[in-house]
Amino acid sequence: MSEKNSGQTIEETIVIGSGPAGFTAALYTARANLNPLLITGNEYGGQVSLTYEIENYPGFPDALGGVELVERMKTQAEKFGARVEFDFVNEIVIDRHPFLVRTESGQEYATKSIIVCTGARPRYLEVPGEKEYTGRGVSYCATCDGFFFTDKDIVVVGGGDSAVEEALFLTKFASRVRIIHRRDELRASKILQNRAFKHEKIDFVWNAVVTEIVGGDEGMVVGVKTRDTKTGEEGFLETDGVFIFIGHLPNNEILQGKLELDEDGHLITDRRGRTNVSGVMAAGEIMDKVFKQVATSVGQGTAAAMQTEKFLVELEEEGYPGVDQDPREFVQPLVKA
Ligand code: NAP
Repeated sequence: MSEKNSGQTIEETIVIGSGPAGFTAALYTARANLNPLLITGNEYGGQVSLTYEIENYPGFPDALGGVELVERMKTQAEKFGARVEFDFVNEIVIDRHPFLVRTESGQEYATKSIIVCTGARPRYLEVPGEKEYTGRGVSYCATCDGFFFTDKDIVVVGGGDSAVEEALFLTKFASRVRIIHRRDELRASKILQNRAFKHEKIDFVWNAVVTEIVGGDEGMVVGVKTRDTKTGEEGFLETDGVFIFIGHLPNNEILQGKLELDEDGHLITDRRGRTNVSGVMAAGEIMDKVFKQVATSVGQGTAAAMQTEKFLVELEEEGYPGVDQDPREFVQPLVKA
């Protein structure tokens, strides 16, 4: 399917990112004979690969591991012809067509379309000690690090689904898990709340924020300083580990100044996954700050891929806009969230 232009192969489409949205976009564009190239990024599999078990992905009533799900998605996409490159995109050039995609390893690809699936990353607390003790008691991944806290006392910061779900997972290892939440009501779903409230190893520290993570002589976490959000009272909790799950930030560094972002940094797209630049589609947590489920990312990946196919047919029929022509001329009206 690839064409040549000035000696450079022109891809039909490049998918940036290897989470559920990315692999689904690759699967659908592969099945449409578009021979997609998927560039994984540094976090292969995205956030789902850090998830121990997924219980709410339809079709898997017995739950399945995040890593296993990603592997299955990759295998399925490759089966239909998707190519997967383990590389990191550090620049996209989209004010000319074909677009250019440049990577950390020094590759430059020309492509007629791009599907951005760069996802999101954990939000940091941004308190003293957090950076210093990351990997020394501070963690953002229960699946990766839970084992190191066997029979230890840990705290989990946050009150959403991630915090409660991961706290439940951490009870497999830790002797005690305290969830520190800045309010007196959880944001997490009722089913998770009920499990946590009933769990003998889980306690709650309500109306509290962590103001500092404190280490001991051996360079490992020994406790957290806290502040009561109602009374302002300062406190200290002894603990061996701090797991932080306070939401996510979109991975938009390569998109800034090039594509329209909302006030939180998510890509603005219409319902078909179109960004404000014709030929650039998006799917998954880079464009969705509301649902953020594996199932919704998969749906968005499907939509973006089908829209990409449609774009390429139209491009074929109407001819290339030509090098140096600004593809923004083809911009479709946006449906803002
Ligand atoms: P989230 O829903 O945005 O929750 C973030 C939590 O962190 C909130 O409780 C928030 O407090 C707290 N928080 C934010 N900034 C803080 C700060 N600086 N200091 C202290 N606490 C802070 O994020 P999430 O839990 O990562 O979930 C993200 C999305 O993924 C959600 O849509 C969620 O439903 C979904 N998800 C679903 C599942 C599942 O279905 N099993 C599992 C994981 C995630 P407030 O409540 O006071 O705002």
